[in-house]
Amino acid sequence: MEQKFLELKKKLSEVAAVNSAAAVLGWDQQVYMPAGGAEARAASVSALEEIAHVKFTSDETGRLISETYGWAQGLGEDSFEASFLRAARRDYDRAIKLPAEFVGEFSRATSATINAWTGARAASDFAAFAPHLQKILDLNLRKAEIFGYKASPYDALLDLYEPGATKAALEPIFKKLADGLKPVIREINARAGSVSNELVKGDFDENTQLALVNEVVGALGYDFNRGRQDRSAHPFTTDFSVNDVRITTRTHRDYLPAAIYGSIHECGHALYGQGTPKNFEFTPLAGGASLGMHESQSRFWENIVGRSLPFCRWLLPLLRKHFPGKFDKVGAEELYSAVNRSAPSMIRVESDEANYNLHILLRFEIETALLEGRLKVADAPEFWNARMREYFGITPAKASEGILQDIHWSLGAIGYFPTYTLGNLISAQLAEKLNTDLPGWKELPERGDFAPILNWLRKHIHSQGRKYLPEQLLKRELGEGIRVEPFLNYIQDKYSKLYGF
Ligand code: MG
Repeated sequence: MEQKFLELKKKLSEVAAVNSAAAVLGWDQQVYMPAGGAEARAASVSALEEIAHVKFTSDETGRLISETYGWAQGLGEDSFEASFLRAARRDYDRAIKLPAEFVGEFSRATSATINAWTGARAASDFAAFAPHLQKILDLNLRKAEIFGYKASPYDALLDLYEPGATKAALEPIFKKLADGLKPVIREINARAGSVSNELVKGDFDENTQLALVNEVVGALGYDFNRGRQDRSAHPFTTDFSVNDVRITTRTHRDYLPAAIYGSIHECGHALYGQGTPKNFEFTPLAGGASLGMHESQSRFWENIVGRSLPFCRWLLPLLRKHFPGKFDKVGAEELYSAVNRSAPSMIRVESDEANYNLHILLRFEIETALLEGRLKVADAPEFWNARMREYFGITPAKASEGILQDIHWSLGAIGYFPTYTLGNLISAQLAEKLNTDLPGWKELPERGDFAPILNWLRKHIHSQGRKYLPEQLLKRELGEGIRVEPFLNYIQDKYSKLYGF
């Protein structure tokens, strides 16, 4: 039996190797490739994806999985083999369900939609995008039917990004969160202008910004022998292997936090990848438990660590070193205020910690209503704008700063947005657990001593890879499922002190 397991392992490692090669091409496309290379690159990537898909979904793979599954489970739930087979079977069952024609149709539709979205957003013309959005919704409904679901088609889609999550389980969580956030946002808005971020605006050389953020992520524990940082239009992290996890950042010449916090965010994702055990390399166990769990790592470092006062105390001398003269008269408390300034924003990705999750709630409401036929595509912009007024007291003047702002739907992803909020909630739960396991940890960043924090995350989260579903992992390591209170307490505490309410 062990022989068959090794056969399966070899086969899946070849699939992973092909996927890794495709990822290198994807990284190059966003970082270095000249625009002219787009067509040939798309052909190369889709050829590699096809090879990986055919190899993975072969009858041979299915036979080896079913022949070794019971044997592996007999070795104990936590064993490498049992976890390997659980992950492999989940991936395989999903991959064989989608007919090749459907995959092709989905891929053509998303290509056309991305093009349409780019034009529609530039012209702020929702009507031009609407038929494409309808097509994406129809295809996602078909996808949900293919995968199957109990209560809502949304569950089948959500499960692609956050295994085990359901609309019914998320609704009360999101409601509790919104009920807790709204009064905090009201108090902040009543004191709008009392916190300024002028000191992080100015003229900052972009190469110097890159040198700064390289130093920052290096200090956090990002291993440059097993990764590198470049610039791209949208920051991202990509794993080619346990030993090659790359990040990108973006620099704004006139606004320093974009590079600093974009970098720390991606570094959080990359620390998860670089913390994958070596023996998980090119197996179904490599990677994170879910997108939400991944986002918990990026948000933990970006916000809970990176936007804390002790971190600002550590960061300030670095800013002075890289930008001589610019921060001489600035104190750490002022820097802390500046990087935590809160204000309602039309744009999700520019939104602060207090407001961010209501942007996600709005998208969750609109996606579920569209998918369940309770809302027509033509009425979606008004739904969007009404929620913006209700949650933030602002109305988008045009669709480009409203319903057309995100790329996710154009990529075919419905049910992806909730993972961002789950990540925020989990990040605060991790911080709460650290209070018990590593007393005084919040002060460590002031000394640049990040290793004990990283080691804790390595032990409890990173080292588990994809062995467990996210909810299982939380219960094992934190002794609880998703909870809203730690995040609400964190937000309430932070902003009431900052804004004096
Ligand atoms: Mg992220």
